[in-house]
Amino acid sequence: MTPASINRREFLTYSGATVAGVTLGEVGRRWLARADERAGAWHAPAVETFATSVCRECPAACGLRVRLMDRVPVKLEGNPLCPVSRGRLCAKGQAAIEAYFDPDRLVGPARRVGPRKDGRFEPIAWPDAIQVLATQIDKTRGARRGVVAFAAEEHGPFAEAWGQFWTGLGGRAAWTLAADSSRLAPRLGVLAGAGGEPIFDVEHATYVLSFGAPVVEDWLSPVWTQRSYGRFRRGASRSRGRLVHVEGRRSLTARKSDEWLPVPGDRQASLAYGIASVLLREDRIDRSRLADIGGNLADFERDVVGRYTPDNVAATTGVPVVTLLRLARELAATSQPLVVVAADAPPDLIDAVMALNAIIGAFDRPGGVFQSVTARTSGYARVSAASELARLASGGDAPGVVALRDASALRAASAPGDVASVFDKCDFVVSFSPYLDEAASVADLLLPMHTSLESWHALMPPTMDTTQEVACARPAAAARLDTRGLVELLGAAAAKLGGDVAAGYPWKTDADVVNAELDRLWSLRRGTSYTNVFQTEWVQQLERGGWWVPPAPTREDFGSAVLDAGGWVDPFFLSGGMRQRLGIRGGGLKFVPPAAPVDAGAAGTPPHDFPIRLAVFTPAVVNLMGSPNQPGLFELLGQPESSSWRVWAELSPETARKASVEHGSTVRITSAAGSIDAQAIVVDRMPLDTIAVAYVPAIARSGRWAHLLTADVRRLWGRGDPAAPVNVRLAPV
Ligand code: SF4
Repeated sequence: MTPASINRREFLTYSGATVAGVTLGEVGRRWLARADERAGAWHAPAVETFATSVCRECPAACGLRVRLMDRVPVKLEGNPLCPVSRGRLCAKGQAAIEAYFDPDRLVGPARRVGPRKDGRFEPIAWPDAIQVLATQIDKTRGARRGVVAFAAEEHGPFAEAWGQFWTGLGGRAAWTLAADSSRLAPRLGVLAGAGGEPIFDVEHATYVLSFGAPVVEDWLSPVWTQRSYGRFRRGASRSRGRLVHVEGRRSLTARKSDEWLPVPGDRQASLAYGIASVLLREDRIDRSRLADIGGNLADFERDVVGRYTPDNVAATTGVPVVTLLRLARELAATSQPLVVVAADAPPDLIDAVMALNAIIGAFDRPGGVFQSVTARTSGYARVSAASELARLASGGDAPGVVALRDASALRAASAPGDVASVFDKCDFVVSFSPYLDEAASVADLLLPMHTSLESWHALMPPTMDTTQEVACARPAAAARLDTRGLVELLGAAAAKLGGDVAAGYPWKTDADVVNAELDRLWSLRRGTSYTNVFQTEWVQQLERGGWWVPPAPTREDFGSAVLDAGGWVDPFFLSGGMRQRLGIRGGGLKFVPPAAPVDAGAAGTPPHDFPIRLAVFTPAVVNLMGSPNQPGLFELLGQPESSSWRVWAELSPETARKASVEHGSTVRITSAAGSIDAQAIVVDRMPLDTIAVAYVPAIARSGRWAHLLTADVRRLWGRGDPAAPVNVRLAPV
């Protein structure tokens, strides 16, 4: 029976039986069963299956459990076995399915027709597209011009495969650096010795002092942090942890904290040193422990106590002296204090936070800071995409070929405004992004890769606790469009190029890369496939005793177990590693001499024409990696401060009054380079003469929803140095 062949009588029988089934009990249910039997051929039930995958909407690599109906993905949830997400997802993870179904996805390979500014493309067959890529690379190598490849930073086999292809051609790989603990590792290394990444044990802290770290939004590994934060605040077996948050705007973390100190980012290092100064001056530190470790504490103390007096710090930061003294005393009085910092904070603030953790005795203790055994970066040096783009924008040697694995480099908040013109002097730009995004808008050749649900995965999530993980998964869904896997594409291009390039690139398919990683993990003879908390702790106990029980009898079974579970985890960790490393290095802790300014006029006098300082923040729901075209996230944009689908600017009541701007109205923000309009949100206690503007990467021609958001704050930088402060003026619209 088809829908067309069901007649009125049968329809009435069916709907009547349905009503009866609900209202008449057993008799009705029998009618309903008969009607169901007759209608069964019309609507055969869809087959429900589940698959594991990995969320790639941010670098955290949370495990996904994908629900499929008739092999079509219909819902994403967290993978309960994944140690990162333990069954949870953030809003971006939930919205990732919109990337798979994005109606503006590229349907297949295409090449540009006419000048770049026209934005016209024509379809091209895959073999021809790969030939065009190989020819352009060959030309560039012949002319001895460079090759630069941009990608969002990740760690693991696919990142290696991407980097190896381009560096094998003599080119450079530049990375949009992830805002995770790898950003903090070098500064911790300076203080405490070379080694791994910092691990902040928020869960077991009794008191967290946060310098701009968005702990309830998207700090380091958002879902992991939120789980940890929940336990810190819940205080199951102890009192509820206290959170003090320092940030120049009233973010969600500021709202949720016990105390918010509205201090702009460029003055937070002074506040951190001010607190250290009080602790040292009042001798509220464990000097014998610090003496045990050794180092240059005496020099550091002389500097800090001499310069960062409570009066100086109060004048610089606006934090009253009594508050400063109280904060230092609270830190000293609690049993397990911890100081945390935003991953993209400036180096002087990271140094100040690490120094504070050292003097409050937070290293290597529960509720403090640990250091991972290894850093995740290996092989080639990690060139920052932002600095590479800034070099190109300032007229540096333009490469012959530019490859964009995704749009992240063009979307990073610190990139200069007019990104399209950065590539004017490059002969050829190729995009591997599946989306109609910023990469497509500058590329000459579009080679759309599979989206994450269609892809193989093997990568190392950010280090958040003392375990090590590799997220591994097969494709969860069939390719919806004419797209390819990353390694399959690069392997085909290497084969076309032949010679040393083909010989130096061992992989042909994405599955090859995952299988090689499974071989490596099997050969380590430790760890297990992702499993529940109890089993993971059991493996940890066994490994501490020197035992390894393979999770499967053979390499093949091991591979299947890891792919079915969504990854591999090794829970082995010996605490005390930092102390050991410090002992090995000798010389103890090396405190960096503090350089943060301590006077009220440190920020200088703002120019008369542009008296307001611009601060830019990225809302947690803004996606810097995947599809720009996710309406579910635009619905959340601005909540709870502003309206959905609008870019907004936060300012103090005094700043609003001076500019004659009202709460909720539109404000025009103008710098020397350009102007944008945004919704004005007046926030009590915002720092005076500062405006905080939401960064939402939106460009023309980037999909039917993304292009509706047009207030791109990068226009206010223009071609200026993205690291330099920008001042603006305000006017009502
Ligand atoms: S934290 Fe990142 S990886 Fe995890 S669900 Fe959210 S966007 Fe996905």
